Parts: sequence; structure tokens; C-alpha cells
Amino acid sequence: MAAATGPEGGRSLSFAAQTKKELTLIADSPCCQRAELQAMVLLNGHVLWLEGRPVLDVQTENVATARRIYTLLRQQFQLHPEVLVRKKMRLKKNNVYAVRVSVRAEEVWQGLQLAPQPGGVWRLTGQPPRKRCCQRAALRGAFLAAGSVNDPGSSSYHLEISCGNAALAERLRKQMDAYGLHAKVIGRKRGYVVYLKEGEKIVEFLSVIGAHQALLKFEDVRIMKGMRNQVNRLVNCETANMNKAIAAAVRQLSAIRWLDEHVGLVHLPTKLREAAELRLQYPDANLQELAARAPFRVSKSGLNHRFRKLEDIAERLRTRG
Ligand SMILES: [Zn+2]
Repeated sequence: MAAATGPEGGRSLSFAAQTKKELTLIADSPCCQRAELQAMVLLNGHVLWLEGRPVLDVQTENVATARRIYTLLRQQFQLHPEVLVRKKMRLKKNNVYAVRVSVRAEEVWQGLQLAPQPGGVWRLTGQPPRKRCCQRAALRGAFLAAGSVNDPGSSSYHLEISCGNAALAERLRKQMDAYGLHAKVIGRKRGYVVYLKEGEKIVEFLSVIGAHQALLKFEDVRIMKGMRNQVNRLVNCETANMNKAIAAAVRQLSAIRWLDEHVGLVHLPTKLREAAELRLQYPDANLQELAARAPFRVSKSGLNHRFRKLEDIAERLRTRG
């Protein structure tokens, strides 16, 4: 899996972190802001009770995403949430940020058409976003909150979004399928994962959520990889042809030497004798080279035919003997 965000300005960001950073700079229209925020709370929002009051925490390991959640809450609800940082020392992992709404938390989830259920699950109280722009924003929010993508240069293409439960994963899969992405769902130790494995579909997803720079970078690497594969294929193909040519030459030489020893080349019909002498003179040449060097007029296929004949004769005489 792609490494999550490092501190900004520190070591270079992973491809996933770069993608997220790009997404958090998109200027959403108000309708889309709500759809994006809803997806984020749906995937990463938790309600706690502190001093008898409900508090909404939206967690993320990505600092740009934390900032995005903060900004969206401020713009949509005129709130000034707190941002809490926790270090995962034990696993030597990254920081975990919690954007915390401790005043008017209910107003936020109601405004996002969400209702907290027992077991930390959310119920949707409204209809899914109808406008295309908002549907894309919802997918963007889901990726920002719980998504990750492998660097395109790594050994396999992989993009995934983790979901707490099967229903959420199924809902997300359907949302992605509206764009023909054919996402798959798999159960993991902790929850479910909606994922894409094909480079083409990942590119499509990046396009849908508006990560255009990431998309270009991904395509760049993919094209380079494709070219490398093509070169490898060509080399393999050439090697295969060369091996075939060498094997043929070895067979021909063996037949010709046997005939020379047991029959004598002078006793062969002229056309076969010519071919045999030519092969003995240039044991390493391929058919094309032989045809070009021949002191008599012969085509590549004509020569091939003569060699086959020589091999046939040698084979028949050998088995008889
Ligand atoms: Zn919209």
C-alpha cells in the first residue's frame, strides 16, 4: 500500500499524498462541498459524548485532508472546529488528525443528512446527491477520507477506499460503477475495501474526482512502463527467432555432415550439393544471409526447401542404416 503523508515540506510526498494534496486545492461549489463533507463524515466521522454533550470527530492521517475538513466545516456551517493531533508512536506510523466539532455537532450531521446509529454507523436520512458535480465530489470526499493509491511506478496498480462496513462498501462500489469503474469489494481484518486494480480504471477514477495532475503523472509512468514492456517483447521475440534460426542451422549442418561422410556431397543432385556447400561455408548465417551470399541464384524459401530435402534424405538414410 502507498505510504501515507509525511510532514509537508519534509521527505517527498508519496503519490497518494500528492493526489490528496491536489484534491484539497479544488474550489468546490457549495452544493459539492456538502457532498464531499458528507462522504468524509460517513467514512471517518465518529460521535463521542463529552461532558454530556455530543462531539463529532472526523479523523484522517493526511494533513491536507484534515485542513480540507476544517475548511469545509467552516464554510458550510460557519464553525471553527478544533484540530487534534495524535502520534501513533507504537507503530512508528504517521500522525492521526481529528477535526473536532464540539459545539453544534448535531447541526452538522443533520445538515449533512446523516444520523448516528449504535455501533458507530451512520444512517443516511436524505437522497444521494443528484447532480453530477456533487456525485463526483462525494467520491472525492471518500478518497480523501479513506483512500489510498499505489505509486504508478510500483509493481502493481492499486487504488482502494476503506469502509467500516459492508453496506458502506457496497454503496461506494455502486457510486463508482456509475462511471463504469467496475470496482470490487473485499473484506479485510478491519472492515471492507473497495478497490481498483486496472491502470485504466484508476486513471478514470482520478479523472472523475478531479485529480488531473495526478492523472497525468500516472499516465506518464504508465506510458513509460508500456514502452519498456514493448521493447522487452521485441527483444524476446527477436531472441526467439534467433534461437529458431540457430537450431535450424545446427540441424542442417548435422544432416549435411552425415551425408558428406556416408554418401559424399558430390553424389547429391546439384541443387542440394550447392546448398550443402553454402551451409558448410557459412555455418552461422541465417537463411537471408545465405541467400544473399550464394554464388547461385536462390530465394530464401528456395534455400529453405533445399535444406529440408537434405535433412529428409539424411534422416531416411540414417534410419535405414
Ligand atoms: Zn455540486
